[in-house]
Amino acid sequence: MTREVHHYIGGSIVQGTSGRFADIYNPSTGQVQGKVALATRDEVTKAIDVAEEAQKAWGATNPQRRARILGKFVNLVRENMDELAALLSSEHGKVLADSVGDIERGLDVVEFAMGAPHLLKGEFTDDAGKGIDTYSMRQPLGVVAGITPFNFPAMIPLWKCGPAIASGNAFILKPSERDPGVPLRLAELWTEAGLPDGIFQVVNGDKESVDALLEDPRVKAYGFVGSTPIAQSIYTRAAELGKRAQCFGGAKNHMVIMPDADLDQVADALVGAAYGSAGERCMAISVAVPVGQETADALVQKMAERAKKLTVGVSEDPKADYGPLVAKSALDRVIDYIGQGEAAGAELVVDGRGLKVEGHEEGFFVGPTLFDKVTTDMSIYTDEIFGPVLCVVRANDYEEALAMVSDHEYGNGTSIMTRDGDAARDFAHRVDTGMVGINVPIPVPIGYYTFGGWKASGFGDLNQHGPDAFRFYTKTKTVTERWPSGIKEGASFVMPMGDQS
Ligand code: NAD
Repeated sequence: MTREVHHYIGGSIVQGTSGRFADIYNPSTGQVQGKVALATRDEVTKAIDVAEEAQKAWGATNPQRRARILGKFVNLVRENMDELAALLSSEHGKVLADSVGDIERGLDVVEFAMGAPHLLKGEFTDDAGKGIDTYSMRQPLGVVAGITPFNFPAMIPLWKCGPAIASGNAFILKPSERDPGVPLRLAELWTEAGLPDGIFQVVNGDKESVDALLEDPRVKAYGFVGSTPIAQSIYTRAAELGKRAQCFGGAKNHMVIMPDADLDQVADALVGAAYGSAGERCMAISVAVPVGQETADALVQKMAERAKKLTVGVSEDPKADYGPLVAKSALDRVIDYIGQGEAAGAELVVDGRGLKVEGHEEGFFVGPTLFDKVTTDMSIYTDEIFGPVLCVVRANDYEEALAMVSDHEYGNGTSIMTRDGDAARDFAHRVDTGMVGINVPIPVPIGYYTFGGWKASGFGDLNQHGPDAFRFYTKTKTVTERWPSGIKEGASFVMPMGDQS
């Protein structure tokens, strides 16, 4: 019997009623392994009804009690790590060790969110005016939603729900329809950890369920991660409706390689950053910018040697460096881009097309692909390919490399590889991207800093996780108070001013 994934509403699994389903593939075999129910507007409304009711008591629960449930949840996820990682790999295609990383980087933020009692503290000023104290408090928004992509089916839902729940909100997750298994298991583990019913719910679905979440006035905020066109449209719609949204989109992350860098170290770092998880990471390096022709020649040679030695295999193969792409459509898209690069005149140094994994000929595999002498007008440079394709764009000097990174439409992350502290510091200060690595190829900040790209990689004012997450999921109320004993000023018709004495 085909496995079916439904919704999680009010503390238990609820069968979908729409009769509409999406297929869930096993990317390693290329076969359908199950189907996921796509919610109707009424089903989403039911989840919002439940969330609204449940949030009243949860929002009134003190932050320390809430944080203790987060702690139990973290332990439960770790106890179930093997099962969760296997499920994640079977739906997404990433190798098992990488699935553990996906889950652990999510827990990193839930652990940070356990600091909610501290992070939710307001400010206080004693005697802001004569006998007047001023203080601020952070209050939950109410019902909030997360809409998340396929490529980190554990990490990104956890980045959203940890801080949202710790702040006293009820959270509704609309995960990707491609790999919905882990989000549903996380819902069960939240319940097992003691989270009240209705505080973490999952509605599976497509545009219909996202629209229903957007249009219901009771949902106050949206944390979206996915492709740029959808991020931008959700941000625009939320703004029109006067709601809060942070929407993170696609990326084209560059690594600048200075002539003084240790090129063996660089090539080792780059091969993982470009091809790990089949390039399906928003922080993957997809463009290498060696500075100077000598650096470029040496780097391309080292990268070609390494790329040819990589093992591409099924997600449960412990020897595989990376697994298949998530879907046939993703495979077709990557192959199409490789053709576009060739047609545009880029030098195809390593061609990943036509790779077959023995016994898994229908799997969605593509081998590591390396292009040299790419120019900035080519589609393989301008577009996010989201596959194991690395473009080398040669720069004559540092300034040209810096400008290239800053001028790109996307501004998620970037890195510089150098031994020159001056160059590294200058790069970190001047480059126009949200996250920077210095000799760190994938600079994903730790949970207590914030994560967010600039330009077409992010829409909204506040970043994900870190202190920004608590600002995003709460509203600030400021109270000015005075107690009347001993104050006899009579009526005043002047705008209240600060202390003027
Ligand atoms: P996607 O945009 O196709 O889907 C993201 C979410 O939006 C899913 O839940 C999907 O069901 C929903 N969705 C799809 N079409 C919709 C529509 N028309 N209206 C409303 N909702 C819709 O993205 P994806 O393919 O799942 O994920 C890959 C993308 O995510 C890449 O572009 C990657 O760079 C990006 N990403 C960005 C970050 C970041 O932090 N910037 C992190 C991870 C992934």
